[in-house]
Amino acid sequence: MAGDTLVVGSAAARPGGKATGYLDVPGTPIRMPVTVVNGAAPGPRLSITAGVHGGEYPGIEAAIRTAAQLDSRELRGQVVVIHIVDVPAFQGRNIYICPLDGKNPNRVFPGNPAGTASERLAHTLFSEVIARGDYFVDLHGGDINEALLPFTIIVQSGAPDVDAAALELARVYGIEYVVQGRVGGGTYAAAAQHKIPAILTEAGGQGLLEPEALEIHMRGLRNVLRHLGMTPGTPERVAPITVLTELHWVSSSHTGLFYPSIRPGDRVTAGQRVGETRDYFGTRLAEITAPAAGLVLFTVTVPATNPGDPMFAVAALP
Ligand SMILES: [Zn+2]
Repeated sequence: MAGDTLVVGSAAARPGGKATGYLDVPGTPIRMPVTVVNGAAPGPRLSITAGVHGGEYPGIEAAIRTAAQLDSRELRGQVVVIHIVDVPAFQGRNIYICPLDGKNPNRVFPGNPAGTASERLAHTLFSEVIARGDYFVDLHGGDINEALLPFTIIVQSGAPDVDAAALELARVYGIEYVVQGRVGGGTYAAAAQHKIPAILTEAGGQGLLEPEALEIHMRGLRNVLRHLGMTPGTPERVAPITVLTELHWVSSSHTGLFYPSIRPGDRVTAGQRVGETRDYFGTRLAEITAPAAGLVLFTVTVPATNPGDPMFAVAALP
């Protein structure tokens, strides 16, 4: 409702105002940096999060810059930006997991207020930010150990209007490949279950702050805001999307070293040799092959591998 103060954690902004602060996760030392932008005119509320994985830097930088640039006087509606969700992982440069409990926060949404640190983090983020918004964008990329082809993930909510709205967000974000996700416990999946149109967007990787990946996220957020009528202007024209429905994740079976011979963006055939694993003495443990024909979406780019660790993913092309 117009006229209400927007409050998230210690950040509070009147209509036409903007504020920064911290959203604390009860029972943990985690304090998430947050910006709230309360538009002068009424409109929808968009939630933007980054750093659910603390080493995915282009998304984090895009959140920081977007929060700094948004002008509350020309905004219609409200924007809540969490700059870094898993602050302990960011500070510790941890891959995938929150170092307080060793869990991947993006597998435990919508969380549990009485659970471990990641579960509490997820619960606070979901109840205080995601569930209170009308639309949701979660910024990711390849983690410190991963290279990837940019892609967006959406998931079916069961409500046709919600799914159509999420697909429109993916379309205007401007990343060509859109994956229909199935992994449970993700931010976007919890949002979809709550009937909130949501996308998870991936660009960049390997611990780098690449300008190209940063610009993908910056343009994506600009386009989403314009598409929703929250900022002036029309979305920048982008390439049409390709929806990928069949995604094959390949995990390691061994402790040792992984030597991939593929790169993100490569096309592979079913059964094609794509790398091998060796033990600490250089002896081959396994030849790794592509499980299906398609497009390589990501590969792990550090040698260390353990049983269950992801190695790469191939998406079947439509
Ligand atoms: Zn991520």
